[in-house]
Amino acid sequence: MGGRPRPRFRSVWVFHVDASACNGCDIEVLDVLTPFYDVERFGVKLVPTPRQADALLVSGSVNRQAVIGLKRVYEAMPPKPRIVAAVGACAIAGGIFYDSLAVYGGVDKIIPVHIYIPGCPPRPEAILFGLGQLLGLVNKKIEPRILYPGRRVLDRKYGVLFNERLYKDLRYYLTRYVGYYDRDYILDDLLEIINSSRTVEELREKIMDKASRLKDPRLREVYSIAGGYIVEKIREETGAV
Ligand code: SF4
Repeated sequence: MGGRPRPRFRSVWVFHVDASACNGCDIEVLDVLTPFYDVERFGVKLVPTPRQADALLVSGSVNRQAVIGLKRVYEAMPPKPRIVAAVGACAIAGGIFYDSLAVYGGVDKIIPVHIYIPGCPPRPEAILFGLGQLLGLVNKKIEPRILYPGRRVLDRKYGVLFNERLYKDLRYYLTRYVGYYDRDYILDDLLEIINSSRTVEELREKIMDKASRLKDPRLREVYSIAGGYIVEKIREETGAV
């Protein structure tokens, strides 16, 4: 982090500039836009023109060809807030090209930079973290939170804790199959079943029974898949058969 003090936003529209990057950073920037990382859920939207952009994501070490374009893009942005994020080692200080005569060696040699996102290339999580800093989200998001205080389930026979880690794994697993709303709803329901079961077998039967009573075939499928996953995880954890 460095440069001028950063304003806080509720959402931010960004324009991506490739200032002579090798495309490694650009691919990672595209990665955060995919449904897997889904940066739009934080209010970050990629726009097709700098005239609509609150922020620039710049990758590359800025060679002599790129510098004119970069300046033009920066000047085309609305005067406020004009945030600039340097993405990758090249954009921060030239990276592996730092001593090349052909490059300026960093975006901040040309325009002011607010956020530096390191890496060669930075991982999508690092880009998300940088954008989270921009939005003032990070402190809120990384505060430790107990999502599911590990209650003892199936305790009579196996003494298993369906703990925080298993809870997160299950939540992540469900995200592949259903939207966020349905995921949380299904997760709550499954946890209730888990907590009311005494053995793995009973748990499996209850989940399958619940699935068979559902009218929506998509939900039936999700419950069946999730049921199999939970049983497998608990068995892995306990060695129960
Ligand atoms: S930081 Fe690495 S990945 Fe990114 S543009 Fe430079 S060399 Fe390529």
